[in-house]
Amino acid sequence: MNYTVLRLAGMYTDSIVDGPGVRLSIYVQGCPHCCPGCHNPETHDPLGGFEAETEDLAALIRKHREGIDGVTISGGEPFDQPASLAALAGMVLEEELNLVLYSGYIFEELLAKSSLDQNIRRLLEVGWLLVDGPYRQEERDLNLAYRGSKNQRLIDLKASLDRLEAVEWTGNGW
Ligand code: SF4
Repeated sequence: MNYTVLRLAGMYTDSIVDGPGVRLSIYVQGCPHCCPGCHNPETHDPLGGFEAETEDLAALIRKHREGIDGVTISGGEPFDQPASLAALAGMVLEEELNLVLYSGYIFEELLAKSSLDQNIRRLLEVGWLLVDGPYRQEERDLNLAYRGSKNQRLIDLKASLDRLEAVEWTGNGW
């Protein structure tokens, strides 16, 4: 596997819905969760989308550095491409930007996976916020910030790794 290549569904350079502030959002291709009512079914096929080099994405981030508050990696399922994303996350950190991660896995599942995969561990360590869990259309709520259903949580990753349990973000630091 080439760890400098990501399979993507798309990018957006000035999103205001994928986390606090103005964000450069990167949407990965491939998702195994099959949530009924998913708004992005075109991202499910792991062979769909297009390939992008992490270095080219880092250059895009640097180009837009002054106009954004942070970077978001959403999907699709980001944590199914952990090695390339961990490399990209390191580049985000070098730019002193915050990183918001989305996943259809819940935090507790990712924490368990992180003990077996150092790249998942790295992503959790470098990330600022995690929007976790699958979209559940029976819990859909249009008033939630940055997420679509009530089961999904906005998790403070540093506090959660310190306590080894999910700690929801209170809005501090923003
Ligand atoms: S995790 Fe996200 S992209 Fe994947 S099926 Fe669920 S809502 Fe769609």
